[in-house]
Formats: sequence, C-alpha cells, structure tokens
Amino acid sequence: MTKITFLGTADQIPSASRNHTAILLNYNEENILIDCGEGTQRQFRKAKLNPCKITRILITHWHGDHILGIPGLLLTLSSSGYNKKLFIYGPKHTKLFIKELLKTFKIKTEYEIEVKEVNGTFVDTKDFLLEAKSMDHGIPCNAYSFVKKEKIRIDKKKLIKSKLPLGPLLQDLKKGKNVNHDGKKYFAKNLTFKTKGEKISIVLDTVMNNRIVSFVKNSDLLICEASFGDELKEKAQEHLHLTSVQAGEIAKKSKSKKLVLTHLSQRYENSPEKILKEAKKIFKNSVVVKDLDVLEV
Ligand SMILES: [Zn+2]
Ligand SMILES: [Zn+2]
Repeated sequence: MTKITFLGTADQIPSASRNHTAILLNYNEENILIDCGEGTQRQFRKAKLNPCKITRILITHWHGDHILGIPGLLLTLSSSGYNKKLFIYGPKHTKLFIKELLKTFKIKTEYEIEVKEVNGTFVDTKDFLLEAKSMDHGIPCNAYSFVKKEKIRIDKKKLIKSKLPLGPLLQDLKKGKNVNHDGKKYFAKNLTFKTKGEKISIVLDTVMNNRIVSFVKNSDLLICEASFGDELKEKAQEHLHLTSVQAGEIAKKSKSKKLVLTHLSQRYENSPEKILKEAKKIFKNSVVVKDLDVLEV
C-alpha cells in the first residue's frame, strides 16, 4: 500500500489553512518527500510524522514556495541524529543550489547527502521506479512518477498442494519460469499470481505542454496543480501554471484513474469547490485536497 500525505497545498502565498507545498509518499521503508515549502517541518509534527524517516527528497523546481523549508529540515535532521544517506533529486542547477544553501546557512551535516539532477528513470529498485520529466515553468522544472512494479508471487496454498518442496526452484517460479522436480513439471502459471503495478504521478508547477499526458499515462493517481480556475486561463498561461479544466483534461487524456488537485491560489481559500466543480466537468473522479489529507493507493 502506498500512503500519500499532503503536508501543504497552497500556491505561492500560504493561507491560514494552506501551507506551502510538500507531499510525503510512503511505501514500505521509503518515505519520499516531494517539495519542501516553508513550514513543512511543523506540518510533519501536525501529521504526527517523523522527518527522520525521510529517505529521498524530490524537488520539482527552485521557486520559494517549493523549497524554502529545505534548510530548516536539513538542520533538524542534523540535530535529530539522522544517520542515513539522504538522496536529493531535482532539475538542472539543484547540485549548485544545495551546495550554496549548505554554505550560506552554515549547515554541517553528520549524514551524507547525495544530490542528483535527474531526467528519465533515476531510481530503479526491485519494487519501484522513480521517473522525472522536464516541464515548462520558466525555470528548470520536473514532474515525477512513482511506479510500483508488477510482481509475481507464489500462491502458498497451491504450492503446498503441489508438493513441490521449498527451495531455490521457487525463485524460478517467481520469474515466471516452469520448473522440473523429481521428473515432474510444475507450471509457473498454476502456482503463482500477479500483484498489480501502480503509478502515481505528480505534476506541480507547469504551463500546459505536450509532454504531460504521455508522461502521466495510465496513472492510478494523478496529483496535479490547479492554481487557477477556468476564468483565469489567460493568467495561468502568463504565469506558466495550470487551470482546473486543464488538470481535468490531462487526467482524461492520460486515462488516469483519479485526479487530485492541489497548489490552489489563495483567491480560492473559501471556494475550493469551484476548482473541483470545473475539473469534475471534464473528469469525474477528481478531488481537491486540503492540508494533512491522506490518500491511500
Ligand atoms: Zn508553486
Ligand atoms: Zn513555481
């Protein structure tokens, strides 16, 4: 199960109810923080989450509302005995900016930080992939996907019934290979089942472009910025952001299963349902999140 906590859902200016952007994705031992706006540390406290469990930080771009919480977070990890290697990924210039930031704020970390500027697949474990795609937002900017791999698992009941002994042959079955034992053939398809893969895509600040739909294709969950309502689509274009309707169109065209709208302008502080209604006209299975909402996939 993948759990996503929306720590911050505001746009450039935080409001009384919406903090700057930060999203925490938890899957097994992985805690991946996507962006870290100002105030993210206190959002961790409110959500009763431990920042020391963060394994990786993904930065979409270097606008303040997405990164101003990073120096404070790195300091806290230092004071809290963080003892893992911290991976930070981002678009072009991320290496330089992290280096400058550590220097400016005189942050000396006991833990190691590895920074990578990424595009395409940048993490590939036996369980999942992380992918980046550059977006259009005036400065280097990435959208990200978390892709849980489809897996072949042994059906234990069927295995016991088949009388195939436990041992290295099971590894072959898990790879989908048929095996021979004591002169008998055992078919992988009879003793295994597949667990479904899953894709979660995160598209934060960007203007509409022709790379989004193919990048987020078939997402189980598409998290997308909707800074503006449809009435301000010219403004969205000018400021290189997306509207509610555009987010709906991306979800529909990409055949995603569910659309999650975030990064709302403070002008919708009292009317987020307007953004939701507009997106729903295009794509029915849409939700608008507020701070500290949790979704499970
Ligand atoms: Zn932003
Ligand atoms: Zn931005």
